[in-house]
Amino acid sequence: MSTGIDIKFVQERYQRMSDDELIRIATQDAYGLTPEAMDVVKAEIQKRGLDENISKGIEAQNREYTIEEIDAYCDLASNLSCPSCSSTTERLNATLTGEVMSFVFFTTYNKKIKVGCPSCLDKANNNALTKTALLGWWGFPWGIIRTPQAIALNLKSKRTNHLQDHNDYLRSFTLGVVGELETYKDNKEKLRQVLIRQNGL
Ligand SMILES: [Zn+2]
Repeated sequence: MSTGIDIKFVQERYQRMSDDELIRIATQDAYGLTPEAMDVVKAEIQKRGLDENISKGIEAQNREYTIEEIDAYCDLASNLSCPSCSSTTERLNATLTGEVMSFVFFTTYNKKIKVGCPSCLDKANNNALTKTALLGWWGFPWGIIRTPQAIALNLKSKRTNHLQDHNDYLRSFTLGVVGELETYKDNKEKLRQVLIRQNGL
């Protein structure tokens, strides 16, 4: 990135993007951009008259955080309405689900962080447990090996679904979407969309 030719190449690349594509890259995929590339993206955002908070979102993905700062982002997420049932009565948290499914020739093991109110998190773990119990165990050998691992994972995750405090799954989720949380911190509807996408809804 030391020569003008490289910068021009990067500029052209971002100029060719649609607004949606540029916003997605800037808010979700800007980790590891060089300072020069960051300047190019920020200039392009400014030129198009897009939300200035997007530039803050780029920076947010490229710095380190204290636990207090992470918890402040967790507060933003946990005060939203539940992405699954829309309830606002309890603070949101996160859980890790593990699902094993065996097919004739192979077994899949999917782990996923889900965000929601405590009862929706329990439901997510219970669904994963049921699916694993029905569809996981019969695959040889991986179904037999993975099924008890997934059952243990869901049971362990359930233990922190009802914590009053943010759990580590929520902290981990928060760090993964920090660019969007920073960009949209004053826009609850946009923030909620991030949670909905995370849950695959
Ligand atoms: Zn819920």
